[in-house]
Formats: sequence, structure tokens, C-alpha cells
Amino acid sequence: SPAIDHALQALPEDTAAATRAVLHDVFGYSAFRGPQAEIVTHVADGGDCLVLMPTGGGKSLCYQIPALLRPGVGIVVSPLISLMKDQVDALLANGVNAACYNSALGAAEARQVLARLHAGELDLLYVSPERLLSNGFADRLQQVELALFAIDEAHCVSQWGHDFRPEYIQLGRLRQDFPGVPVMALTATAEKQTRRDILERLNLDQPLQIRASFDRPNIRYSLLDKKQPAEQLRRFLDGRKDEAGIVYALSRKRVEQIAGRLQEDGYRAAAYHAGLDAETRRSVQERFLRDDLQLVVATVAFGMGIDKPNVRFVVHYDLPRNIESYYQETGRAGRDGLPAEALLLFGYGDIALARGLIEKGGNPEQNRIEIQKLNAMAAFAETGTCRRRALLGYFGEKLEEDCGNCDTCLDPPERYDATEDARKALSCVFRVGQRFGIGHVVDVLRGAKTERLLGLGHDKLSTWGIGKDINSDHWSH
Ligand code: ADP
Ligand code: ZN
Repeated sequence: SPAIDHALQALPEDTAAATRAVLHDVFGYSAFRGPQAEIVTHVADGGDCLVLMPTGGGKSLCYQIPALLRPGVGIVVSPLISLMKDQVDALLANGVNAACYNSALGAAEARQVLARLHAGELDLLYVSPERLLSNGFADRLQQVELALFAIDEAHCVSQWGHDFRPEYIQLGRLRQDFPGVPVMALTATAEKQTRRDILERLNLDQPLQIRASFDRPNIRYSLLDKKQPAEQLRRFLDGRKDEAGIVYALSRKRVEQIAGRLQEDGYRAAAYHAGLDAETRRSVQERFLRDDLQLVVATVAFGMGIDKPNVRFVVHYDLPRNIESYYQETGRAGRDGLPAEALLLFGYGDIALARGLIEKGGNPEQNRIEIQKLNAMAAFAETGTCRRRALLGYFGEKLEEDCGNCDTCLDPPERYDATEDARKALSCVFRVGQRFGIGHVVDVLRGAKTERLLGLGHDKLSTWGIGKDINSDHWSH
């Protein structure tokens, strides 16, 4: 567009100054955020880069600006087709020549995009990994001038990432096949193993490695022992009548139930899950964005690419399967920087449930990784110290001081010397042969006479009834 052309023609020689000019003239922002300036300058000068930034941190500009500054078209690889369209629309609104090329396109449209690619008319082209790797397309790219490759959601290349996509592995070819074209990897998953996999598999060449802080200080993390969760949710929502929020639950059935109950209670709430047709899902998403809906009850399917600034809270009705998902989902709260809340209802039953689901998976190696991640999630839930410390620590970031804005900071758990109780519990676990779950062990400790217990002869054990003085809730806890 003329506006862009004008901005790009009058660019200063100095790269850093040029990036600021584009930031201002094209995107209308006055200053870079966090490490954006360093990234943008490095890539504009032709270097590879690995960017770790939390959701909402501003990754898009990191490739959009160098793509505009460098001659040729910037190729953005993203697995999220619905997100592509939003990004392209936003770019078009800023006068940038952007398009997408994916399976959602009709044949005529696809041809037109390719024609524009060959004519050198595009600044940015968003492509799904499948399309990019198809032979025809890779050949085409050899014939046009390329500004850069940006691989979004780069954690998909790693089995350690929470969203492994086998087709991503092949993106490692880009580095050799397109020498001289900078390759960027971007992700909101910063955990160490994933990071290592990204670097290795994408073959980045001496990349600048940048990690922005993952802290979201305006989000208050808290946790409740899950007991009558419907009631707990009701109480939580009571004080938040007009605030927008998302409630995550593990199964479609549960999502429907919760949404139904909230509607009966008079809330403008709707269910969202992958079992609903595309039209319904789109409508829920739109009504939520417009504030016609106050609450969305959803499975993990909801929220990819949602950029709603005023989500005031995110409730996890069930335990998420890993910290990555938990962090990404809670990160959808408070994008406007105003106070927001993340509430997790945590019950031990959920761990067993999640473990069962994971063990149903066919790939033992994958199951092992997922169990390890589930254990980390459970450890986070059980922590008696600052939640934010635990959370950021998981992503390799050290917080100097306790945050003062999480449940354990604000209301520290009571402590007592539990050595004797721990001895009793461990001894009992051993006496029952280390084969029983919490419920049974507590029954034995409490000296219960359930049919099962008597049948097993566990009333004869030396640990039967040694913990009568403590109630079962306390033992379970
Ligand atoms: P991510 O892809 O990391 O989740 P986005 O790139 O979508 O994040 O950016 C999140 C929001 O922050 C967007 O609304 C974007 O316009 C805004 N943003 C990014 N960088 C800046 C900046 N330097 N100044 C102001 N707003 C910015
Ligand atoms: Zn804290």
C-alpha cells in the first residue's frame, strides 16, 4: 500500500532506527516491548533467532517487522489455521500485504495467492506446515525472494512440548535448503528440554536466544481443595457477576453439565468443545469477544488465538494435564494488565483420572513423558510455598522474592511437625503391601471395618487404627 511504501522508502540507514520507524509508522506503537527491539534488529540484519515469550508477550511483531524491512516475502509457519486469518486481517488493516495459504482456501483463492507470491506482491505469507513442506510449494519458494522464515508454535517440533506435531520435524530442512534466509523459532513454551529440541531439530545457525520474562504479575494464582466443585464455582462466581471468565473442564460431558448449571443460575454462559459444529463454536467465540457472553465453559479446544483483553478470571474445574497447558490457559486472563485471577480446583482423584487417560495412550515413550509432566503439575498443586515461584521455576526462571499475589503468599498454609503422622502413614502403606490407594490406606489408619478391609484381613495389621485421632480429610490431605 502507498502508506507502507512511503514508510519503507524513507527508512533510516541504521537498522535499529529503521525498526522503530516501522513500529511507529506501520503498527502505530511508540515503543518496543521487552526484548522485541533486540530480536527485530538481529533478524533484520539476517540472523537466526529463538524467541521464548509468554502468550500475549508480542511475538508477532518480532517477525512482522523484519519481514517488512528485508526484501522479499516473510514466510510464517503456523499450525493454527483459525489464527492465521485473524493475523492476516489485522495486517491488512495496517496496510501490510499479507495472505495465507492453507487447506481452508478454495482452489481459485489458492491460485491467486500463488500468483501474488510469484509477482513479489506479498510482504507476509502464512502457511500451514503441511502446505509448506509439499514439494510443489518448496520449489516455488526457491524461485522467489524470501525475507525470512518464522516458525510459530515451535515447541510442536518437540515430543517434550505439549503439542507434538510430526510434520514439524521436517522444518529442519529449511536451514539447509534456504541458505542466507534467516530462520526464527517462536514459542510460549520455555521448558528446558523443549528448548533444546527446538534448537537441535530446526538446525538454527548460531541463533540469538531470547527469553522474555514469563511472569504475569497481575494474575493471582490460587487453588482450592476440590470439594463439591459445583458449589465452589458458584461461590467464586458470586462476587464476579459481570466479569468475563473462562472455566476449563476435562471432558465434553462435564463442560455441558457445568454450562447448563450456570445457565440455570442465570449466567450468560455457553459450552465450547470440539464436539460442537464449527458454526456454533464460531458464534460462542464471537459472542464472548463482544461481551454478549460472560462465561465460556470449555475443554482445551477453546482459547487458541483468543485475544480478548478483559478476561478477568480463568477457573480450572479439573486438573490440567501439564504445567504448560495450565500456564497457557491461565495466561488468557488479564491481558489488559489489570488484576485477574486464576483458580484451580485440585482433588487427588483428578490425578488418578488423568493418569488413567494417559496410560490409555498407545505410545509408551510418550506416556512416560506425559506422566512426568502430570507429576510436575501435581507437585505444583501441592506446593506449600509461593505458587508463582514454583510456576516460573518450572520454566527455568528464578523469582528473587515471593510474589505476594498468590494463595500461599496471601494465606500461608498452616504448618506443624508431621514427623509422627508421616511415619504412621508410610508404615501403613508398607503393611498393606504398597498396592492400595489413598482411600484404603486412610481406612486402615482410621481403624475402619469396611467389608473390603475385613476381607483382606487388614484389621489384623499393626497399623490398623493407629491414626484414629485424625479425621480422614486430614489424612487424605
Ligand atoms: P503473542 O503472539 O506473543 O501471544 P501478540 O503478538 O499477539 O502476542 O501480541 C499481543 C498483543 O500485544 C497484541 O495485541 C499486540 O498488538 C500487542 N503488542 C505487541 N507488541 C507491542 C508493542 N511494542 N507496543 C504495544 N502493543 C504491543
Ligand atoms: Zn506467591
